[in-house]
Amino acid sequence: MSNPKTRRAQTIIKPDRDRRFVTEDNPFEAMMSRFDDAARRLNLEPGLYKVLRTPEKQIIVAVPIVRDNGEIEVYTGIRVLHNTSRGPAKGGIRFDLAVTLDEVNALAAWMTWKCAVVNLPFGGGKGGVICDPTTMSVGELERLTRRYTAEIIEILGPDSDVPAPDVNTNERVMAWIMDTYSMHKGHTVTAVVTGKPVEMGGSLGRREATGRGCLVVTRKALHRLGIETTKATVAVQGFGNVGSTAARLMAEDGMKVIAVSDKKGGIYNPRGLDVKAALDWVRENRFLEGFPGGEPVTNEELLTLKCDVLVPAALENVITSKNARDIKARIICEGANGPTTANADAILDEKGVFVVPDILANAGGVTVSYFEWVQDRGGYFWDEETVNERLEKIMTKAFDEVVAMADRHGVSMRIGAYMLGIDRVAAMHRMRGLYA
Ligand code: NAD
Repeated sequence: MSNPKTRRAQTIIKPDRDRRFVTEDNPFEAMMSRFDDAARRLNLEPGLYKVLRTPEKQIIVAVPIVRDNGEIEVYTGIRVLHNTSRGPAKGGIRFDLAVTLDEVNALAAWMTWKCAVVNLPFGGGKGGVICDPTTMSVGELERLTRRYTAEIIEILGPDSDVPAPDVNTNERVMAWIMDTYSMHKGHTVTAVVTGKPVEMGGSLGRREATGRGCLVVTRKALHRLGIETTKATVAVQGFGNVGSTAARLMAEDGMKVIAVSDKKGGIYNPRGLDVKAALDWVRENRFLEGFPGGEPVTNEELLTLKCDVLVPAALENVITSKNARDIKARIICEGANGPTTANADAILDEKGVFVVPDILANAGGVTVSYFEWVQDRGGYFWDEETVNERLEKIMTKAFDEVVAMADRHGVSMRIGAYMLGIDRVAAMHRMRGLYA
């Protein structure tokens, strides 16, 4: 089903005939409908529109490995470079059964716009292997990672494509990719991946960077709405890397965190939670369940709690046309990628909710990945204070630029962010021209 916004854009921009629209929770649809709206408002030339919506490279590879029981299993690996006009492709690799080419295409495009919004010299990429890592041993995961890396090695490299961790991949997986790539090249190339262990070329501050970026833009949003930081109440869905760091830093900044949750459910206390105690609890018990500092709350209830700031930091498609009307938060800071569907956008706009969109709100992670790449290439490493200061400067500037774009065109922060990102990528294409 197409929505009215995209239909309107189609008549003006004349996209390809093979355009597909699926459902509200299809990530490619979610990305394209916002892209179309922003492109139409920018009066993007039809030719450039076609270039920007089409991924540059989509690679599908077979990844055969020997399982621990001696049997051979063949997995499917994908790597997509959406656009590299501004620099090497940057984007994570996920190991998950739900990986599809459609999803990887959408995520790669999001990376293009995200890197442009924070003005990094990177394009957008994404990758994945369709597998269930929870059923695999460490040895199997290492063989899978190394074979996948070998299969896509032609496109990898500090100047062409620089992966990072994503769903179900971590520092250890990045170390295996770096080692496999380096073995093929015959020398150590740390800058081929980011999100590595600090001991082998990772950056200080990378682990906290996405949550810290959320803090910076939330402070800016509160200021814009005239809400004092120390009077703000916050609810955070997802208590992993992004959610738990955002919750901890916001509490340290004086905000009152009234609810947090993970995939088993959440904890609510209108007087404010002790976030540090919740982190200690999760370190010992894995999940928030049973944490004595508040009452249980479901993930659905958490989203509609009365609060100033809602931080969805777990999954995509949690704020939809079904629950958007019930959202009571004044600000939504999207820690996760794609937590709000395109249909929900219109409802939130109508209600006047100030949404800091994912391609701005969670860009702190890729920003410090950029710092890691710079440090690896320069062979000179910064202290954590320098990393955090430079991160804050970039996030603050990007927030102000998105606000300026949104105000100038009378659009939401989301469409303002897309317009800023698309405009920067389009400008690069215009200057470079088309290689014939
Ligand atoms: P993570 O795996 O560390 O944490 C995910 C959290 O979400 C966990 O607490 C988990 O229990 C919870 N969760 C899982 N299913 C849930 C459900 N059904 N309902 C509620 N909670 C659920 O992941 P992360 O790195 O924190 O990433 C979270 C989101 O942020 C993802 O969308 C990711 O793409 C995005 N993101 C992460 C980074 C980064 O640097 N880690 C950067 C940009 C964007």
